[in-house]
Amino acid sequence: MNSYDVAIVGAGIVGAACAYECARRGMRVVLVDREMVGSGATAAGMGHIVVMDDSEAQFALTRYSQRLWQQMRSELPDDVEYEECGTIWIATDDEEMQEVERKRGYYAAHRVAKQILGSGALRELEPNLRAGMRGGLLVPEDGVLYPPCAARFLMERAQEGGVETRLGCNVVAMGGERVLLDDGLEMHAKFLVNASGASAPALTPGLDIKKRKGHLVITDRYPQFVRHQLVELGYLKSAHSMTSDSVAFNVQPRRTGQILIGSSRQYGAEHKEVDHEILARMLQRAQEYMPGLGAMSAVRTWTGFRAATPDKLPLIGPLPSDKSVWLATGHEGLGITTSLATAHLLVDQMTGAPTEIPNEPYLPSRVGKEHAHA
Ligand SMILES: Cc1cc2nc3c(=O)[nH]c(=O)nc-3n(C[C@H](O)[C@H](O)[C@H](O)COP(=O)(O)OP(=O)(O)OC[C@H]3O[C@@H](n4cnc5c(N)ncnc54)[C@H](O)[C@@H]3O)c2cc1C
Repeated sequence: MNSYDVAIVGAGIVGAACAYECARRGMRVVLVDREMVGSGATAAGMGHIVVMDDSEAQFALTRYSQRLWQQMRSELPDDVEYEECGTIWIATDDEEMQEVERKRGYYAAHRVAKQILGSGALRELEPNLRAGMRGGLLVPEDGVLYPPCAARFLMERAQEGGVETRLGCNVVAMGGERVLLDDGLEMHAKFLVNASGASAPALTPGLDIKKRKGHLVITDRYPQFVRHQLVELGYLKSAHSMTSDSVAFNVQPRRTGQILIGSSRQYGAEHKEVDHEILARMLQRAQEYMPGLGAMSAVRTWTGFRAATPDKLPLIGPLPSDKSVWLATGHEGLGITTSLATAHLLVDQMTGAPTEIPNEPYLPSRVGKEHAHA
C-alpha cells in the first residue's frame, strides 16, 4: 500500500504532463497537490506557446515542446482553446529592427517559419497598433492556449492511464524514496518528482529558485481588436533583468474576443496582492503600443509567481545529492510551453530511453558544477 514507481508533488501543468507521460510508459504513479489541478502558476499563466532563442538550450526545449503541442492538437478539447495565432515581435525603431533581422537569421538557420514585416504590413495585420511602428517579425507557428484547461486535460489523460491523484494534501518532506504528508501519511516510490513550481525549494532545500511575480489583466470582449500574440522586442530586456522590476507590452487575443494584457516581472515581491504601481506601469506601456486599450473595460486582474533559475533554464532530472528525488521545476515564464518536453525528457531519463534533444543543459547537476568552478 502507498507504494508506487513514481510519486509526483505538484499538479500544475508540469506535474500533470509528467504524470501523463509516466502513465503512458506503464509506470505506477501517484500525484499529490495541496490545492487542485492547475491552481498555481498554471492558473496565472498567459498560455503563449512560443519558440524562444535566448540560448540554444532554450530554443531546443521550446521548439521540441511546441512540436509536441502541435502533435497533440487534434486531441485537445475545445476548452483548451489552442489557436495557432502566431507571434509578432514588434520593433519601434531601427535598433529594434536590427534585432528583428538577427532573430530572422536565427530562425532561418533553425528552420522556424518567420516573416519580416515592414511598417505597412504590420499595420495591415494589426491595425490597432499605434501608427509609426518600424516593423516586426511574424512567427506563424507560435500559438496560445488556456493553461488551466490544458492541465486538466493532461490530468484526465493521466488518470485514464491509471494515475492516482491526491488533491488537498500538503507534502511536508520528500527524499529517500519517501513522500510525507502533513497528516503523517507516507508514500513510497523509486522516483520522487518535485514539480511544485516556485515552492520547490521548500521541499528540496538549497535549490536556487526565486519567485518572480507577474501581473495580468483580462478585458471584456473586443473581437478582432488583436489578432496575434503581440510582444515588444524590449520584452527580452525585461525578461533578462535579474534585479529591477520591469514591464513589457505583451498582449494576447483570446478565442472569446477578450484581450489578455501583460506583463510584469518582480523579484522579492512575495505577496499575491496586486501591486497598483506596477500594474499602472504595465497598462501605460500597453497603451503606448495600442492606444485603444485605454478605453476598454478590464474584467479581472491577477498575479502569479514564476519559478526563476539564475541561468533561465529549468531543472529537469535527478538531484545529485539524493538520486530518488527528480526535479521538474524552474520554468520561469515558459512552463506552459515547455511542460510537454519536460515530461518527455524526465521520463526518458528515468527509463534510460534516448532523449530527443540533449538533456545536459537542464540537468540539476549543472548547478553544482557552476558552483564548483565559481
Ligand atoms: C504572469 C505569468 C504569465 C506567464 N505566461 C506564460 C506564457 O505565456 N507561456 C508559458 O509557457 N508560460 C507562462 N508562464 C509560466 C508558467 O505559468 C509556469 O512556468 C508554469 O505554470 C509552471 O507550472 P508548474 O506545474 O511547474 O508550477 P505550478 O503551476 O505553480 O504548480 C505547482 C503545484 O505544486 C503544488 N504544491 C506546491 N507545494 C506543494 C506542497 N508542499 N505539497 C503539495 N503540493 C504543493 C501547488 O499547489 C501547485 O498546484 C507565466 C507565468 C506567469 C506568472
